[in-house]
Amino acid sequence: MNNLNLELDKIRNSFGDYCINTCKSKCCKFGKLLLLNKKEVNLFSQDNSDFIEKSTNDVNHHYFNFEKNGDKCKFLDKEGMCKVYKNPSKPKVCNDFPIFKTGDFVLTAGSCPAITTGLVDDKLKELCEKHNLKLI
Ligand code: SF4
Ligand code: SF4
Repeated sequence: MNNLNLELDKIRNSFGDYCINTCKSKCCKFGKLLLLNKKEVNLFSQDNSDFIEKSTNDVNHHYFNFEKNGDKCKFLDKEGMCKVYKNPSKPKVCNDFPIFKTGDFVLTAGSCPAITTGLVDDKLKELCEKHNLKLI
């Protein structure tokens, strides 16, 4: 993993306590989870594949529909922890959320309270300046 990815992960991990204790894992309970490849789909298909939907935009992409599973991810435990946190097949979007790098841009998720309350504003600005990236 290069320095930039390590630095991005450090920022994401810096508000882990906020995720569990304040936000209470909102992003694991809302909408649909993008599954980018077979490995990710297989992880979510174990036991039951009823909640997997095909994407209409990309044949390789699928979604796990939280709504059909009682408004939560099947891997979210009662304490708000992810049961597949260390699993290499964990969806990429889970690893990246709520900060995504694409090309020369760093995008943040407007649905994430850690972002909207400015918890990591300074750290993100500093990282973007250091690596000459544009923050959106
Ligand atoms: S929505 Fe944001 S603050 Fe809430 S659990 Fe997800 S990453 Fe953490
Ligand atoms: S796999 Fe883990 S991090 Fe991803 S939505 Fe499910 S519980 Fe949340």
